[in-house]
Amino acid sequence: MQYQSTRGTAPALGFEDVTLAGLASDGGLYLPTSWPAFTVDQISALAGLSYVETAVRVMAPFVAGSLSEYELRELCTAAYGRFSHQAVTPLVQLDHQHWLLELFHGPTLAFKDVALQLLGQLFERFLSRRDDHLTIVGATSGDTGSAAIDAVAGREKIDIFMLHPEGRVSDVQRRQMTTVLAPNVYNIAIEGSFDDAQALVKAMFNDAAFKSRFNLSAVNSINWARLMAQVVYYFYAAVRLGAPEREVAFSVPTGNFGDVFAGYVAAKMGLPVAKLIVATNVNDILHRALSEGDYSQGQVVPTATPSMDIQVSSNFERLLFDAGGRDGLALADQMRGFETSKAMRLTNAQRDGAAHLFSSARVDADGMTTAMRWAYDGAGQILDPHSAIGLAAAREAGIDASIPVVTLATAHPAKFRDAVERATGTRPPLPARVGDLFSREESYAKLPGTFEAVTAYVAERATPRG
Ligand SMILES: *Cc1c(COP(=O)(O)O)cnc(C)c1O
Repeated sequence: MQYQSTRGTAPALGFEDVTLAGLASDGGLYLPTSWPAFTVDQISALAGLSYVETAVRVMAPFVAGSLSEYELRELCTAAYGRFSHQAVTPLVQLDHQHWLLELFHGPTLAFKDVALQLLGQLFERFLSRRDDHLTIVGATSGDTGSAAIDAVAGREKIDIFMLHPEGRVSDVQRRQMTTVLAPNVYNIAIEGSFDDAQALVKAMFNDAAFKSRFNLSAVNSINWARLMAQVVYYFYAAVRLGAPEREVAFSVPTGNFGDVFAGYVAAKMGLPVAKLIVATNVNDILHRALSEGDYSQGQVVPTATPSMDIQVSSNFERLLFDAGGRDGLALADQMRGFETSKAMRLTNAQRDGAAHLFSSARVDADGMTTAMRWAYDGAGQILDPHSAIGLAAAREAGIDASIPVVTLATAHPAKFRDAVERATGTRPPLPARVGDLFSREESYAKLPGTFEAVTAYVAERATPRG
């Protein structure tokens, strides 16, 4: 399988190169040159398969040329063997129409483990083939950092430097990062906000000499391999609810548009997806874009759902490219315009291409609380705030009663227990697998938020390229 950039000029690459590159050299994002299509019989044949076997069937076309089916199975077995539930991503019923797909049974309690556990395995495999070394640098507002650290801790050919804004992530989130004491893991608390931390990371990537000296790489959701791993659970859930004979709708708590874009890929491959509901909090740029064609950046408002507090949704570019007719040069122009003016209109082709599959909703704090209470009172289910935003959007979407609606439950409620306690009066306990989190030793550096301080710290500890 070959991959092309959304901005039209970077060379086409195979899966291995795309995984290690992350971003394309023209600033675009990689997508397969065409979507692999599954027949009705191929989808029917997924019934009853384990998560790992489903993953192998769904991902095999995407990794063709880079991994054999045997290798892919090995990596998936290692990645998903670390989940605490035998079903990996189990479905839970809420009423006659609504279901939760629990994506938080991985080591760090959020859905990001599903993709990052596999990405850690892929990195290790590809780097040992090349005898190369990678330095991962990232900024996190919480969930990505812990999932990425867990996925690469102790790996020989990778160092990871993770920046978080000092005092602005929850205790659980910080400890999930700083109590990992492997020698290749470096946590850095930066004086400043998440945006300051992210700006420092961007500046390091823009320093071409520094980037190539340490072979810098990113683990945020612009990496195609992450999206690919997320396509699997759409198939896994839909088949259990009657696909391919029956259509299924999904509601997705959305920030960077990675998770819901994986649902779009599943639909493109032939899964009968009735609707993809994009659920946003009051930071509603995606809701405005999908309902009115208005993609314009506002100020971020902090909410109880920090992983959805975004101004710009990087993966939205992939939808604009594919739904708008795959004209990379035109999209590069459009994105340059957005980067200058912080606003753009979707073209008619982009709006029409998205309209038949996507709907969207903006859910405020009251809507979130109402959904949390509804799930608790009616089904005894405690939802985290992000999942509750998804459920609120699912319930108001007006989907025909014959179609099951699956809300993606993106985090374990214990990860956001203060917000859950405020809404429901119940404080969810931390699951046993992270039980001693608060008695473990922490290790992290505190640095001023300057480029000089951070690059000096990284340069002293990272492995330069041979
Ligand atoms: C990252 C995250 C999201 C948003 O997912 P995207 O792929 O960025 O749209 C939603 N909920 C939780 C808990 C997350 O960690």
